[in-house]
Amino acid sequence: MTIVRLAAAAILGAIALPAQGPGAAAVLYVGARLIPGDGSPAIASSAMLVEGGTIRAVGATEAVAVPAGVVRVDLTGKTLMPAMVNVHVHIGYEGYTSWGGANHTAANVHDHLLREAFYGVAATTTVGSSPTAQVLAFQRDQRDGAYPGASRLLFMPGIAPPQGGPDHILREATDALRVVHEVTTPAEARTAVRGMAAQGLGHVKIWVDDRNGTYPKLAPAVYGAVIDEAHARKMLVHAHAIQAEDQKAVLAAGADVLVHMVQRQPLDDALLGLVKAKRPYWATVIGLGDPTALCTPDPFFEQAVPPSVVARIRATTERRPLVPSCGPLPATAADRERQMAVNFPRMLAAGARVVLATDTGIQPGHTFGSGEHLELARWVQLGMTPAEAIVAATSRPAALMGQADLGTLAAGKRASFIVLDANPLDDIRHTRRIADVYMDGARIDRDAMRARFTRETK
Ligand SMILES: [Zn+2]
Repeated sequence: MTIVRLAAAAILGAIALPAQGPGAAAVLYVGARLIPGDGSPAIASSAMLVEGGTIRAVGATEAVAVPAGVVRVDLTGKTLMPAMVNVHVHIGYEGYTSWGGANHTAANVHDHLLREAFYGVAATTTVGSSPTAQVLAFQRDQRDGAYPGASRLLFMPGIAPPQGGPDHILREATDALRVVHEVTTPAEARTAVRGMAAQGLGHVKIWVDDRNGTYPKLAPAVYGAVIDEAHARKMLVHAHAIQAEDQKAVLAAGADVLVHMVQRQPLDDALLGLVKAKRPYWATVIGLGDPTALCTPDPFFEQAVPPSVVARIRATTERRPLVPSCGPLPATAADRERQMAVNFPRMLAAGARVVLATDTGIQPGHTFGSGEHLELARWVQLGMTPAEAIVAATSRPAALMGQADLGTLAAGKRASFIVLDANPLDDIRHTRRIADVYMDGARIDRDAMRARFTRETK
């Protein structure tokens, strides 16, 4: 343990430490509009009592009993919302000036989780692309207090046929670390899931996608075995599927989370009927693919990346692979946008339970944390209300990922929250107007983090 702590201290010495917040002393945050995160109405003028990193009481200003000697923090004019929970990223490979398996170190994972925290994300799930032993060790150290102020790392392994699974860019990185569980038969699938359950893992990802005929696709009998074995062990299955037929098949087989959105085909009644009957969680993963959002300089993104890297990203198509230039949308992209505008509200109306997911880190040029805010804006653009978008980014993903202490601002929860300068219920883009982020009751030093994130490395 001493060695672990020393190693962690060495890493922390090299990066911006979170500010020493009001850790153990009781603090009353008073006067802010407070969005609880569970869908209940905002409290116009709130009081939130925090002690030892935990919320002790929340209510209207006059309704919260205030013990003697508390520190008062006046947040009049601000809005509080819970820090978010992201159910789908690919952590560890992005190096900002490099990319690949060699980057997947505890220090780089920590850097990505600090970036998530900087943008108001309390927990971040890496899905199907990280080495299990390394992640489990990181999680142990994080629980022991090694990474204060960083987003909580959540993890699930992934199952694919040999040479299937992640797209070719991510595949390069995951191949180097041999992280994808490659299975061919139902028996192999069951063995893989049993191994995951034995390690205490509660979720597994499957890929059901032939990438336009270029990849082997997981066979129904094989993913049926994955789902059956997972459910027998109280594990949930996240199914990557982008075609309507595949989404139907994985839902019929019992997948718990639909990953991605059918973007180029209409949805038929059979698919919508399955959604209505099963009410799956739905990780839409559409923010990073927004073909228009990234065409103008974006200070919200750029504040966490060195200028030379911003210039390189803008000079390439990495961040907007669907649009080679920022002129008018090519016909295929415009068609896709039109289809998404039809499909998204139909899925919502059928009862799909949207959860925050971004695919950040799937390829170079995506920075961790800012994409979450793009995802929320996309939902609202496609017909969700801002209040629903906040639930889908906070309490619902926390429930899905078994993080009972996160996702709402209520007594007994961790005091991980965002202080905003403007009300996101008026305009969802106001989630970007971040004044402060608190993780476990401590204010993180975003100025110091910003200075470090934008420093040129060479
Ligand atoms: Zn993904």
